[in-house]
Amino acid sequence: MADLIPAAFENLLRRIFLELEREGKIFDLPAGKFYRHTSSSPDLSVQFHGLRASTPVGPAAGPQDQLVQNIVLSWLAGARILELKTVQINDQLQIPRPCIDATNVGFNVEWSQELTLEQSLQEYVSASMMVDILKAAGLPGEDAPASTRDTIFDMSVGYDLAGIQSPQVRSWIAGMKDASALVEGLRARIPADFSRYRDLPFRTRISNTLTLSTFHGCPAEEIEGIVYFLLTEMDLHVTIKMNPPLLGREGVDYLLHDVLGYEDIQTREEDFDRDLKFPQALEIVDRLSEVARSRGRTLGVKFSNTLVVRNHRSFFTDETMYMSGAPLHVITLNLAQKFREAVGAGVPISFSAGVDQFNFPLCVAMGFVPVTTCTDLLRPGGYGRLHKYLINLEQKMSDAGAGDIANFILKSEGHGGAAVARAFGEVRSALQILEGSIPTADLGQVNLFLDDSERRAKDHLGTLAADLGEWCRGMIRDFERQVAPAIERWVASACHQALERIHDRAVREAAYLNTPGIVERATADPRYRLERNRAIPRKIGSRLYLYDCINCDKCVPVCPNDANFVYEVEPVEVQLRTYELTEAGVRITEAGRFTVAKSHQLANFADFCNDCGNCDVFCPEDGGPYLVKPRLFGSRAAWERSTTHDGYYVERRNGHDRAFGRINQREFSLDLDRERDRVVFTDQVLSVELEYSSDEPVSVRVLDAQRTGHALSMEPYYVLRTLMRGVLDPRRVNFVNVTSID
Ligand code: SF4
Ligand code: SF4
Repeated sequence: MADLIPAAFENLLRRIFLELEREGKIFDLPAGKFYRHTSSSPDLSVQFHGLRASTPVGPAAGPQDQLVQNIVLSWLAGARILELKTVQINDQLQIPRPCIDATNVGFNVEWSQELTLEQSLQEYVSASMMVDILKAAGLPGEDAPASTRDTIFDMSVGYDLAGIQSPQVRSWIAGMKDASALVEGLRARIPADFSRYRDLPFRTRISNTLTLSTFHGCPAEEIEGIVYFLLTEMDLHVTIKMNPPLLGREGVDYLLHDVLGYEDIQTREEDFDRDLKFPQALEIVDRLSEVARSRGRTLGVKFSNTLVVRNHRSFFTDETMYMSGAPLHVITLNLAQKFREAVGAGVPISFSAGVDQFNFPLCVAMGFVPVTTCTDLLRPGGYGRLHKYLINLEQKMSDAGAGDIANFILKSEGHGGAAVARAFGEVRSALQILEGSIPTADLGQVNLFLDDSERRAKDHLGTLAADLGEWCRGMIRDFERQVAPAIERWVASACHQALERIHDRAVREAAYLNTPGIVERATADPRYRLERNRAIPRKIGSRLYLYDCINCDKCVPVCPNDANFVYEVEPVEVQLRTYELTEAGVRITEAGRFTVAKSHQLANFADFCNDCGNCDVFCPEDGGPYLVKPRLFGSRAAWERSTTHDGYYVERRNGHDRAFGRINQREFSLDLDRERDRVVFTDQVLSVELEYSSDEPVSVRVLDAQRTGHALSMEPYYVLRTLMRGVLDPRRVNFVNVTSID
C-alpha cells in the first residue's frame, strides 16, 4: 500500500499563491469553480451546535478531508462545515487497494484516516490555518463580507469506547480543542515572502464538535457510553452517526430491490442482527439529549453511514463492501423520516447519502445541517462540482422568495403556514400550563394578541420576500408596546420568552413538515433507480503509456488528494543509442526510437496517492493513470523506499537539476549542471556525459568494469530528461517545482 506523505506547510502555502497568480487556480481547482458569495447573494448561513457556518454544505468524513489540500479544496468550493476524516486508536491501518469504486452507484472499502494521529492533528491544524490565510487574502471573492467565510471543523472519531477513551485519542481531541502550541510552531514556519500572514489571529480551538462513527454491530450500551464520555469528560457537542440497518432489513431490501431495482446488491442478515435497533436508538438519543442539555452541550444525529453489502463485483477482494450514492439517498431519507416521525422536530439532523447538486436544496429544505457529500465529488469535475450545489440552492431560494435558509425552509414546500400554526400552538400550550395562575383578563388579552399575530404571520409568509425572523422581532416589539404594559409583569415575561421561540420553532416544524413530501418524491424519482445508475464510464480500448494519452484531464479533478497533475514538455522524436560494455571497451549501437508526441502530459505525485483507484475508473484509457503515468516522489528518501513500482524523484538545487528513476526495476540518474550545459546520465555501471542543449555525447565512462555484457540504452535518459524539464518548468506550478520557483 502506498503511504500518504503530507506536504510541508510552507510548500502548501507557496503553491497556493504561486498557482493562483500564474494559472488562476489553487490545487488544480480553477478560480471559476470557487464558490463566491456576492453582496446580492442570499444568506446561506446555518447554525450547527450553536456555531455559525456560512453555508450548510461540507464533505462527509472521507477522502475529501484527509490532507490539507483536500480540506482547502472543499473550502474553496463552498464547504463551510467540514467533517474531518475519522481518526481512531489504530492509526497504522492496512487498507486493501483499490478502495473506491465510484463507477456508478458508489462502493468503497475505505476506512479511517490513513495518517497517524499525530499527522492527522498536524494536517487539520495546518488546514485551519490555511483557511484563515485564504480568508485574510480575501479568497474566494474579494467583495464578499467576512461573515460568508465562517467555517466549522467537525471532528470525527471511531470506533469503540476503549479506543476513544485511550490516552492517545483523548490527547488528540485535546489537541484539536486547543492547538495553540502547534499553531505557534506552524506560524514560525510561514516563509518570509508571506510574512504579512505571520501575525494573523489564527484559530487555536480548531473544533469542539464531534461526529461519532461506530462499527457496524457496536452495542447500544457502548454507543451510549462513548457519547456520554464525549459530552461530559471531553466537553464536546456530539453528533451520532447512525447506520442504515436501523431501518431494518425488510425496509432496506424493499427500497433497494422492489422500489429501486438494485436486485444484484445484497444485504446480509448478520449485519442487521448485530446492529443497533430503532427503539434502542430512540432511547439513547432521548437519554443523551438530556445529558447534553444538562451540560450546556448539544446532541444531534447523522443519517447515515454507508450500507454494508455483499461484494458482488470484482473491483475489491473483500467479502463485503460499503454502498453509497443514489440508492443510499433514498434509503437514508426514509430512515431520517422514520426517525423524525418518532421524535418530532426537536433533534438536529445532519445528512449524508447520495447528495448531489440536484437534491442538495431539498436536503436543505428539510432542515438538515450540515448536508454532507462524498461520492459525487469523486466523479468527473471533483471538488468543482460543489459550487454548483450552492448556486442551485441560491436559485431555489430566489424562486421561493427566501433571503435566508430559515425562510427557504418555511416557504419552499408550502408548509410555512402550518408550521407557524404549530409554533403558536406551542406558545398556547405553554400558557395553558400556567392558566390557573394567570388572571383571566390577562389571558384574554394574550390570546387575542396570539390569534391576531398568528393570522398576520401566515399572511406575511404569503408575501414576496417575506422574512419571518424580522416579522417575529416586530411582533415581539408590538407585544411589549401594546400588551405587556397592561398585564402582570411575570405573565408578560413568560409570554415574551415563549414568543422569542416562535421563529425557531416554526422553522423546525416546517423542516419536519417538508420531510414526508420530499422523501415520497425522492422514493418515486426514477433518477435513483438502477436504470439511471448502471452506466459505466466509457473506455476507448487504448492503453496508457508513460507519455501521451488522449489528454482528457479527467484524472486530475477526480483525485481527492490532487495527486495527478499536468505538465508541459517539448515533443521529441529521436533515434536511440545503446552503450554496451564489451571485453574490447564500450560499443555503441543504434536501435529504436523515443517519441513524445504531445506537449501536454500527465504525472502522479506519489506522496499524495494512496492507490484508491478512482482515477483509473474515470480514465477512458486502460492501465490506470496512477500506475502508468510517472509517479514522482517528494523526496529522494520516499523514492528510495518505494521499490515495488517504477518511480521518479526530481529536484533543482545549487545550480543542478537532478532526476532519479526506477524503470523496470533498474535505477538511473541524471545530473544536469545548468551553467556548464553538461548532463551526466548513469546506471552506476556506465556513465554518459552529454551536452544538454543538443543531447550530443561528450564522453562515456565505465564505473564497474566487471560488468562485461552490460548495456545502457539511452531511452531512460530521454524519459528522465523529458520528465525533469517538464515538471521543473515554472510555467505550471506543482509539488515538484514549488520549492524551486522564485
Ligand atoms: S491519463 Fe487518462 S484520464 Fe488522465 S488525461 Fe490521460 S486519458 Fe485522460
Ligand atoms: S491519483 Fe488516482 S489512485 Fe491515486 S489517490 Fe488520486 S485518484 Fe486515487
